[in-house]
Amino acid sequence: MQKTIISVKNLKKNYGSFEAVKGISFDVFEGEIFGLLGPNGAGKSTTLEIMETLRQKTSGEVMVNGLNLDTEPDGIKKIIGVQLQTSGFYPGLNLLELIALFSGLYNQPVEPMELLKLVNLADKAKNKYKEMSGGQKQRFSIATTLINKPKIVFLDEPTTGLDPQARRNLWELIKDIRQKGATVIITTHYMDEAEQLCDRIAIMDEGRIIALASPDIMIDDLIASGFEKPRPAKAANLEDVFISLTGKEMRDE
Ligand code: ADP
Ligand code: MG
Repeated sequence: MQKTIISVKNLKKNYGSFEAVKGISFDVFEGEIFGLLGPNGAGKSTTLEIMETLRQKTSGEVMVNGLNLDTEPDGIKKIIGVQLQTSGFYPGLNLLELIALFSGLYNQPVEPMELLKLVNLADKAKNKYKEMSGGQKQRFSIATTLINKPKIVFLDEPTTGLDPQARRNLWELIKDIRQKGATVIITTHYMDEAEQLCDRIAIMDEGRIIALASPDIMIDDLIASGFEKPRPAKAANLEDVFISLTGKEMRDE
């Protein structure tokens, strides 16, 4: 029996008269990587930000690790890690200085080099934030979500705009975070990413959840419904060609 760590019931969010989230319900299990998928404007970020206590809901109930969002938001803040938009960092500070700053904000002692090692940035410790590549900035922003040793980590489109190597590297990092015991909630609009990473996914569209299951079950259900690909897939795709030609190792160092 899976243990529920987040429970969302009939969650609604209106922006003025616009209904961005139209009464969604789902549970997230402890220790899983849970994906929120859907096209732009589906309501993924809104849903995430409400669970992160950063945005007011219109109605519905959200429980996080046994804490009610309405009455114990501060308790929730203490056990979650939230990935900030990368533009939120002071560009002129180096990575060690930024970690010290966050550690002070969270009032949490950290081992900065250990944290940088975890995201493969130990050799960039003295580099300024603004000197890093896109992939490095994303890895660093994930490191900052781990400072308060969270039980739950929220990642909003962590791989958007990255090249294939940086994306795969980040997948390994996210799996690593789960391996160490955290629950991960991630949004993405890359289906291959969701298939690789997520134990279960909820597909959102226009403020509603239209499917919720493991990627495997969703694919099997589609095939069972009689779906056939118009053209049989080859044993490899263009991304496989690209990775095979340019190598798996990171280039953004
Ligand atoms: P997603 O992350 O799936 O792309 P969002 O949650 O960001 O979707 O947005 C859902 C819908 O709500 C979109 O139509 C968006 O334009 C709208 N929206 C988001 N934030 C605001 C806001 N602060 N004010 C008004 N409308 C908003
Ligand atoms: Mg979004």
